[in-house]
Formats: sequence, structure tokens, C-alpha cells
Amino acid sequence: TSFGFKEVREEEKSQMVGNVFSSVASNYDLMNDVMSGGLHRLWKHRLVSKLNPFPGMRHLDVAGGTGDVAFRILESLNSVYRRAVQDVLQDNLQEETQIYVCDINPNMLNVGKKRAQERGLEDLRSLMWVEGDAEALCFEDASMDGYTIAFGIRNVTHIEKVLAEAYRVLKPGGRFLCLELSHVETPGFKQLYNYYSFSVIPALGELVAGDRESYQYLVESIRRFPSQEMFASMIADAGFQKVEYENLVGGVVAIHSGLKF
Ligand code: SAM
Repeated sequence: TSFGFKEVREEEKSQMVGNVFSSVASNYDLMNDVMSGGLHRLWKHRLVSKLNPFPGMRHLDVAGGTGDVAFRILESLNSVYRRAVQDVLQDNLQEETQIYVCDINPNMLNVGKKRAQERGLEDLRSLMWVEGDAEALCFEDASMDGYTIAFGIRNVTHIEKVLAEAYRVLKPGGRFLCLELSHVETPGFKQLYNYYSFSVIPALGELVAGDRESYQYLVESIRRFPSQEMFASMIADAGFQKVEYENLVGGVVAIHSGLKF
């Protein structure tokens, strides 16, 4: 490629992604803040507000890593709980809600469990950590009210399989939401963004995490990811209706959504 990256063969991809996330797991949360200048927090907040979680829901956060999205969903539900007047009602709501964090990498899940402990959430029955592959989910058909995947689908081997699995596990009326680094097309901003991605990010990766290569690979994977329109049509092809997307920061990230009818 023009940036001197080697083509990554498909069979190498999963292994490489595994290595990337094993080597970054402990630095992962810090790196998110450093790379995005803290913006990933706003983006995840936007994702959860679009999801509009409700008490008693069964939700699956795939590629959930260290639990960032799940914690935000719980926070959002807690503000709903606080508004519930009777204690009894609160208990009932909390018991029924189930949030599953599914990730292929146990190191990421372990960091997440530790974070849950620090937040005093380890005994919460609503929060479950599941090791599993987005391409072959270990959940039943039509079992979830919501599905989110944040910064996860870009690195999978077969995007179509992930979308088919999302569709399968959602109940009719269930919502699919995907937050992902996407494509900037605005002239001027695009050049600036490319410079940031291909020069600054690998340098930061080396400086903060001591791992230039992993971050170089992550940047390359953004470039390979389908455009907003193309990804929207893949979501529709998986069977979803009302497929839409919202660009944030000019397309640095996009939130795609779809409904299962
Ligand atoms: N969603 C989290 C967040 O936004 O902070 C984590 C995002 S992290 C960039 C990507 C995650 O995807 C990693 O934790 C990695 O282990 C996971 N992952 C990669 N391939 C996967 C797959 N096939 N199935 C499930 N998780 C996968």
C-alpha cells in the first residue's frame, strides 16, 4: 500500500487481532483516552443514548472488551432506577435486567471484571462476562432486546457473519447499534486526519504502550473498513430494517443502527 503496510492474509488476521489485544489489554483504557483525546467517552455516551436502555432488558455488548459500554448502559439504567419510586419496584427491575459483555479475549474481560470490582459491581447479577466469538455467538435465537458493538467489527475476519449473528440473537423489535471508526471525506480535514492516523497514532502507541506495530495495524484496519454507505448496505443485507448512520466528528467515527422486524 502507499503507506508501506504488508497485505494481511485472512487466516493471519484473527491471530494478529488476538495478539494486538493481548498486548494492549492492560494499557487499553489509557490508550483510548490518549488516541481520541478523551472523545471516545462522548462517542460511547452517544451510542448508549441512541440505544435508550430500559429496565428489564436483555442486552448483548459484543467485543465488549473491558466493559466500557456495559458500564455506561448500567449507569443509564441506574438513573432510571433512581426515578422509580418504590424500593420493591427497583429490586424487581434490577433482577430482570441482563447485560452480557462478550469478547473473544479473556485478558480484556479480566481487566473489565477488575474494573467492575473497583466500581463495586462484582456482585451485580445483571452484569455477565462471556468469552466468545462475534462470528459464532453462544446465545439463543431471538433472545436479546439490544445488541451493541463498539470499535469491534472492524477487526473481525467476516463482517457478514457478525451481522448475521447479531440478527439471529435479536428478538423481533430488537435494535442493532455499531460504533466504529469510519471514513472522513471532508477535504482538508481528511488530509489532517490521515496525518494524525498514520504518523501520530503509531508514534503515540510506541510512546505510551511501547508497541508501535499494533497501533500501525489498527490504523491500517480503519483504512480497509467499508465506507459508511457500504457498511449500511451490508447491515441491510443481513436483514435489518430502518438502517441509518450518524457521522460524528466528520466521519472519524460513525454509529450505524438497524432494527429487526
Ligand atoms: N468495545 C470496547 C470498547 O469500545 O472499549 C472494546 C473495543 S476493542 C478496540 C476491540 C475488542 O474486540 C477487543 O476486546 C477484542 O478482543 C475484541 N474482538 C476482536 N475480535 C473479536 C471477535 N471475533 N469476537 C469477539 N470479540 C472480538
